Amino acid sequence: MKPIVKSGKLASVAYDIRGPVLEKARQMEDEGQKIIKLNIGNVAAFGLEPPDEIVQDMIRNLPSQVAAGYTDSKGLFAPRKAVVHYTQEKNITGVTVDDVYLGNGASELIAMSLNALLNNGDEVLIPAPDYPLWTAVTGLSGGTPVHYMCDEQADWMPDVADIKRKITSNTRAIVVINPNNPTGTLYPESVLLDIIEVARQHQLIVLVDEIYDKTLYDGNVHTSMASLADDVLFVTFNGLSKNYRACGYRAGWMVVSGEKRHAKDYIEGLNMLASLRLCANTPGQLAIQTALGGYQSIKDLVAPTGRLGRQRDLAHKLLTDIPGVTCVKPKAALYMFPRLDPKMYPIQDDQQFAYELLAEEKVLIVQGTGFNWTQPDHFRVVFLPNSDDLTDAIGRIARFLHHYAKR
Ligand code: PLP
Repeated sequence: MKPIVKSGKLASVAYDIRGPVLEKARQMEDEGQKIIKLNIGNVAAFGLEPPDEIVQDMIRNLPSQVAAGYTDSKGLFAPRKAVVHYTQEKNITGVTVDDVYLGNGASELIAMSLNALLNNGDEVLIPAPDYPLWTAVTGLSGGTPVHYMCDEQADWMPDVADIKRKITSNTRAIVVINPNNPTGTLYPESVLLDIIEVARQHQLIVLVDEIYDKTLYDGNVHTSMASLADDVLFVTFNGLSKNYRACGYRAGWMVVSGEKRHAKDYIEGLNMLASLRLCANTPGQLAIQTALGGYQSIKDLVAPTGRLGRQRDLAHKLLTDIPGVTCVKPKAALYMFPRLDPKMYPIQDDQQFAYELLAEEKVLIVQGTGFNWTQPDHFRVVFLPNSDDLTDAIGRIARFLHHYAKR
């Protein structure tokens, strides 16, 4: 029989967070081995449950006719109105309910925003390192991902000169992930304004992923990029997965703001794609309304004495105590992106490195190239496991690296 082969469109698509190393970990678990997972930002799985108010409301809503039904393609009015209020709190002006789209997580909306925009060969500027969905979906939409560098020496800030250098006549959009996954960097207004100026000059859309905008340490404050200009088109993404620890509810939103007058055709495309998938899951939409109604409990977790605050400090100290490991301390989000000194650890293939760490020490990390980082000298850890598990896991990484350096 003729083999059934996958589409050529997948040739450039990768998502190593759930890639082959995770497959290996699953096999090992099936064989009864216990793996410590530092690979994925699945918040609730680490005992960080969603606020009770949201869970109770979900239980209350589930038997209702509304929850069982389809909604308008963009979503129910009340949760979209709640998102409008949220944009007002973040000083984004001119947003109406019509500009808000609810989705099955931000992921679905990210795909929608790029599918509606790109023709074959159009280029999208995406940070390196990035959250790899952005690169994958750009390719799947027929576009070409072009990575601009973030500078580790400058606390992983985007290199705006590199963005400028990489603009061509095919560039359509700039992606900004702030707070950033995988680096945990929070961008100051000055950097955001510099990127906006580039977008303004070259008439580019700015796609802003702000899914960690409340997961901030050390009293830091987040600035929504779309609040800084109204003469550039912004599409801003957010949701309940991280700040509200409800990633399984698959509840996200996307807001179109700024220079909308010249984007009527694009917006028509977004509306078309929203209607093709009928609507986002309705119980998740209802949870958005409740969450944005004011429950802000993430603040307790990210405080210096809160669980995430303590785990960030602990993981950073333990990692940077390992010889040859340096790491910019994250100001936000749930991740660290440490660097392994190539002189001590001459890694050729960082996926192989992740396999070996898994096989020898039963710790699962994601290799840096999985985030479109160009060199095999970084990896990402999540600091969601409790302090005992983090200490155990990073101790194992230290032991593995000690042997690795002697090879
Ligand atoms: N954007 C970033 C930067 C993420 O880290 C993630 C998930 O890890 C997502 C988007 C996807 O979020 P959602 O669960 O809302 O689809």
